[in-house]
Amino acid sequence: MLITVLLSLLWLAALIGVGLTLAYRRTDLTTSTVILGFALLAYSLLGIAHWLWLIVLWAVFAGIVSLNVTSFRREKITAPLLKVYRSILPSISDTEREALEAGSVWWDGELFSGQPDWSKLAAMPAPSLTDDEQAFLNGPTEDLCRMIDDWQITHELADMPPEIWAFIKEHRFFAMIIPKEYGGLEFSASAVAAVLTKLSSRSAVVASTVGVPNSLGPGELLMHYGTQEQKDRYLPGLASGDEIPCFALTGPRAGSDASAIPDTGVVCKGILDGEEIIGIKLNWNKRYITLAPVATVLGLAFKLYDPDHLIGDKDEYGITAALIPTNTDGIEIGRRHFPLNTPFMNGPTRGKDVFVPLDSIIGGVDRAGQGWRMLVEQLAAGRAVVLPSNAAGGAQAATYASGAYTRIRKQFNLPVSRFEGVGEALARMAGRTYITNAAISVTCAAIDQGEQPAVPSAILKYHCTEMGRMVANDAMDVQGGKGIMLGPKNYLGRTYQAIPIAITVEGANILTRSLIIFGQGAIRCHPYVLDEMQAATNDDYEQSLKDFDRHLFGHIGYAFSNAARSFFMALTHARYSDTPKAGQIARFYQHINRYSAAFALASDVSMLVLGGELKRRESLSARLGDVFSSMYLASMVLKHFENQSYPEDDLPLVEWACRSLLYQAQEQLHSFLRNFPNRPVAALLRVLIFPRGRMYSAPSDKLSQKIVDLITHPTDARERLCASIYTTSEPGNPLGLLQDALEAAEAATRLEEKLKEAVRSGIIDAPGPLEKINQAEAAGVFTADEAEQLRRLDEQIMALIDVDDFDSQELRANQI
Ligand SMILES: Cc1cc2nc3c(=O)[nH]c(=O)nc-3n(C[C@H](O)[C@H](O)[C@H](O)COP(=O)(O)OP(=O)(O)OC[C@H]3O[C@@H](n4cnc5c(N)ncnc54)[C@H](O)[C@@H]3O)c2cc1C
Repeated sequence: MLITVLLSLLWLAALIGVGLTLAYRRTDLTTSTVILGFALLAYSLLGIAHWLWLIVLWAVFAGIVSLNVTSFRREKITAPLLKVYRSILPSISDTEREALEAGSVWWDGELFSGQPDWSKLAAMPAPSLTDDEQAFLNGPTEDLCRMIDDWQITHELADMPPEIWAFIKEHRFFAMIIPKEYGGLEFSASAVAAVLTKLSSRSAVVASTVGVPNSLGPGELLMHYGTQEQKDRYLPGLASGDEIPCFALTGPRAGSDASAIPDTGVVCKGILDGEEIIGIKLNWNKRYITLAPVATVLGLAFKLYDPDHLIGDKDEYGITAALIPTNTDGIEIGRRHFPLNTPFMNGPTRGKDVFVPLDSIIGGVDRAGQGWRMLVEQLAAGRAVVLPSNAAGGAQAATYASGAYTRIRKQFNLPVSRFEGVGEALARMAGRTYITNAAISVTCAAIDQGEQPAVPSAILKYHCTEMGRMVANDAMDVQGGKGIMLGPKNYLGRTYQAIPIAITVEGANILTRSLIIFGQGAIRCHPYVLDEMQAATNDDYEQSLKDFDRHLFGHIGYAFSNAARSFFMALTHARYSDTPKAGQIARFYQHINRYSAAFALASDVSMLVLGGELKRRESLSARLGDVFSSMYLASMVLKHFENQSYPEDDLPLVEWACRSLLYQAQEQLHSFLRNFPNRPVAALLRVLIFPRGRMYSAPSDKLSQKIVDLITHPTDARERLCASIYTTSEPGNPLGLLQDALEAAEAATRLEEKLKEAVRSGIIDAPGPLEKINQAEAAGVFTADEAEQLRRLDEQIMALIDVDDFDSQELRANQI
């Protein structure tokens, strides 16, 4: 009897195992039904199960079989579900729909699938620069960096000096994305990112000034949507720098909710150059517009109305973008805002009854009302390039400087980098810099291959700028007063001040995290949701039912599979999941597999349970967005490591990056479950996602220490990590001078040990460092050359830790 029960249970477990394996492997419904049928038949024929129990199992199986009969399934199951779905489908405005449909789905789609196909990421080529791009980086970009005196720009002039403006225009820094046929440089995204990263390691003002025309603005909009006449008219001037562009969307009443702009354009008749024409009468009030004070061409977003139906049947066209020369009558422009002591050109612009011809609309009248779509389409790629590169430049510079500074700065007779507290901060800085570099490098390579990765762009915009902020905060902490005292000798303060600018622009970060990353990702990257929505809103009912049925059952299979995958991989700590690489990093791929399934499951369940409410539950969707971002960034780290040919020395950085990201994924999933409003569902999800609890650990102290060793010594890993910044050794470049001092300090290590030994043994008892060196020389501990080497090192270090002081009068803004 006991044996029969045991056998029966064993068979049942085997049956469940078969079901789980089929779900885990995503076997299609028909094959799964056949396999389950055979398994059940064998179980029945064995005669060990009770007949009542067999009836239950066969009834369940009959249900599964019926799902294979398409006509029955559509009529009895899908049709009622479609009715419910249509009633709960959240309303989506036109602007939201346009944002959702913008760009392409790339690696983000794989992560949303619950079963990422790593071969797709492996197939993406490593980024590379053309000879022209490399020459521009080594030539004009280095030269521009050399010309920059950031204190002069930020404090003395509150502007770039004329020679820098002229150099930027002459070398076409404003035209990196403009095609060569119009006189531009036509650089890849990777090249634009490389130039901006280098510039931002030197000056936030120069990087912002160069960044904006190469980001969303008239140039980009004209290239993609402009009429030939508009391209011919404006692009050569924009490329040569004779025309300075700006783009005005934001106003006092519409910031984050840019689609709510109250600025208007009314189609009407008017007189232009003595002739009556149909044109647009514009009224606007914009603020925060970069380059506006010096712009010659204003890109303007407004809502277009046509009350007299002069261009078509519609009264209202929606957001429209136009290009207007700033010398047009009625435009008020030229005043400046003062963004956090980062005085790049930024200011308001207003226009009262400004009459412009219809062909001012970018793309002509056919593009009336398409302004929003044009903007979000271009942002789909652009958000991954400009602001993330600025953040990378700041992060690399801060890490490079802090690694050297904490090595040469001594307190309690030790380099401060040797204190564990400082080491923790240094490791965080280096790890985050690595993640930022990886994310930009791999995502830009994807853009260069033709992707327009809208969701990854949002991930990069948010996380690179946030990590830039964290790195800057840590840098300020580990460099203490040196970072705080502003003046020509300060190399951290202005970057630290400028960071909230990057946080705010191109979609403020809280909004990007709470609304865009998951909100857009859930619909855009999900393998079924957008298709289901499109099928459900199809007016042709028969087609709608047919398509909805197909997507819905695909979706159900996907959800079952994710539940099985999440559960199995959580139980086994993802140990048996597929990985494209062996060795130390294999486990990171496996954990991404695991979180991908868990995330896909949690996303599906929350959309099912909360429906449209999820859009308002921003804290929940932000956490899911964090999980998604962590997986994306960890994938970028692994791919970057591969692109760099797996340098062994970088392993601690790769491990720190992946560990901290995957730990964050775990913690955010945990917080998501803790806050999920439907508690029974949360409990079930917890069983499927964390059956063994939270087992993933954050980076260890030992790992942090390995990273400190890498960045506080002149290692190849330190150079690779900070390869994109301006480190030329020359007076006026603190990064180069710090590196010189670091190398000199390393070279003097043996002498310093010798001096310490002499102090310990009582040969030396002089009080100050220089007196000690002199005494050691006199006592024969050092040769004259050795003593001189140490004196020079001390001088070098003192010059670097020195800060500025001013006469009171000099600090007054108003020098009366
Ligand atoms: C230096 C600088 C340069 C700029 N350059 C330009 C330019 O060239 N052209 C241009 O058109 N604009 C430009 N902007 C405007 C910029 O894009 C806006 O500042 C930005 O869109 C945010 O608007 P806001 O500052 O009015 O903040 P608000 O919209 O008032 O937002 C305040 C806070 O609320 C949060 N928030 C708002 N809505 C939500 C939501 N639904 N969910 C969660 N959080 C939300 C935001 O994240 C933010 O934290 C610039 C701004 C700055 C500061």
